[in-house]
Amino acid sequence: MLWLRQLRWKLFVSHLLIIAIGIAILLPTAHFLAGNPLSAMRDSPFSFASAPASESEIAPSQQEAFQLVVDQALLISAFAALSAVVIVSLFVSRRIVEPLQELALVSGRLAQGYFRERTTIQSDDELAHLSGSINRLAETLEQTEQRRLGLITDVSHELRTPLTIIAGYMEGLIDGVIAPEPEIFSLVHHEAVRLKWMTEELALLSRAEAGQLRVEPRPTDLTEIIERVAAQFQSQLASQGLTFDRRVSSMLPRALADPDRVEQILINLMANAVQYTPAGGAIAIFARPRDLFVEIGVADTGVGIPVEHLPHIFERFYRVDKSRARQSGGAGIGLTIARHLVYAHGGEIWAESEGAGRGSTFRFTLPVYETVFR
Ligand code: ADP
Repeated sequence: MLWLRQLRWKLFVSHLLIIAIGIAILLPTAHFLAGNPLSAMRDSPFSFASAPASESEIAPSQQEAFQLVVDQALLISAFAALSAVVIVSLFVSRRIVEPLQELALVSGRLAQGYFRERTTIQSDDELAHLSGSINRLAETLEQTEQRRLGLITDVSHELRTPLTIIAGYMEGLIDGVIAPEPEIFSLVHHEAVRLKWMTEELALLSRAEAGQLRVEPRPTDLTEIIERVAAQFQSQLASQGLTFDRRVSSMLPRALADPDRVEQILINLMANAVQYTPAGGAIAIFARPRDLFVEIGVADTGVGIPVEHLPHIFERFYRVDKSRARQSGGAGIGLTIARHLVYAHGGEIWAESEGAGRGSTFRFTLPVYETVFR
């Protein structure tokens, strides 16, 4: 009875069952009443003014005719009810079974990796809600898949550039076309270092995106971190002719943060500021209390960010000026990692810029330790 497992038939049989029960009750009741028409008329809630006074007033032929009429009425009703069952079952199963079949088909295709599939159910009931949920799921899966494919393309492209340079120089050296000068070794070394840095950043990014980037928040003096980061960039700032300023509020409370991770965020922001600020420009690190948070930031007077790019710059591999970023080694990962690290602390990070050529300011927040524990 495999067919009985189908919802279509289950609906039909359940409708049939309801009608069968109705007939099973109606048939003996009608027969009993038709056999005693007098008491039926007397006991009826409807008053029969012309009810005969006694059984003897009803002729046997009349009683038989009455029973025949009742039987005929029952037969016609049963037939009408059965026809109605077929029509209603067909209608109901069309409204329920067909959308369900479509949902099963679409979700099956999604499971096979066809993320462009969508359901087309047009109604306003629970099935339409389910259809909407499946379509939203498909949308998310499709976007994730696109990002995954984009990631593979981007990663292979980013790694290919330094590898091509290294391979080119090495071939030239082997063939004797390039002289083994210290500058050539230094160039190859520079590309190898860039490759190593990129793979480390990618590993960090994939850990961050998998939610495996652990932070160990503890009471942290941000002034110390700012000093350490400033010291790391001192020679680079000087060699690029950039002025540097630190504006740290004297009342800066300690933050509840992982000092190594905060340093990493600041290094990423400082590296960008140095990278995107031409000689003669100025860079500043600032920090101040802001409600239950400490706000830290890096401001520069550099190339700035056009407003339409601002919502995207924290996205993975996003670069405003792709050609220039590639020359200078940026892979568009630094800000994505910074955002993951800030979020892991329960903070926020955002960028501000008045537009191209008008500098940029990056700010992020970290929870204050003192307010949390006092
Ligand atoms: P990248 O390694 O390319 O710098 P990031 O994720 O750190 O990657 O930054 C993403 C993009 O945001 C950069 O390619 C650049 O276009 C833009 N950007 C980041 N910081 C600055 C800044 N201080 N000034 C101007 N543009 C910036």
